[in-house]
Amino acid sequence: MTKHYSEADLLETYYMQPGQSMPVMMHLAECAECKAKYERLERKLREAAVCDTEKPVTFWTRQRLSIMRRVDAQRTDGERFTRNLRVAAAAILAFFLGGAVALLLLITRVRRLKDPIPYGPFLCAGAAIILYIGP
Ligand SMILES: [Zn+2]
Repeated sequence: MTKHYSEADLLETYYMQPGQSMPVMMHLAECAECKAKYERLERKLREAAVCDTEKPVTFWTRQRLSIMRRVDAQRTDGERFTRNLRVAAAAILAFFLGGAVALLLLITRVRRLKDPIPYGPFLCAGAAIILYIGP
């Protein structure tokens, strides 16, 4: 015998019908290493079965509350982050849109360097773009 059984295989064997587990049992009979592993697994499973899983209702109420609190915290953090990201993206987009249009107006000599170019329309355009197609 060269191939030993993994803990997962042995666990599966533990829940098998006696007829199906024959090959593994044959191996266990002659392999001390796997036999020790199997016995340790068996002992753990027996201990787990004996372990008292009954808990008072207050325990589960407290568990549920603490989980829901963490879920809520995570959700609001995520929403806040997304909102900030979208505002930042809109501002950046407005900056580049305004820059591009200003450059175009300067190159085509429609406006000169001293002429004012309103920034508001670009802020609105950036916000609108993020609102409808942005992240
Ligand atoms: Zn073995």
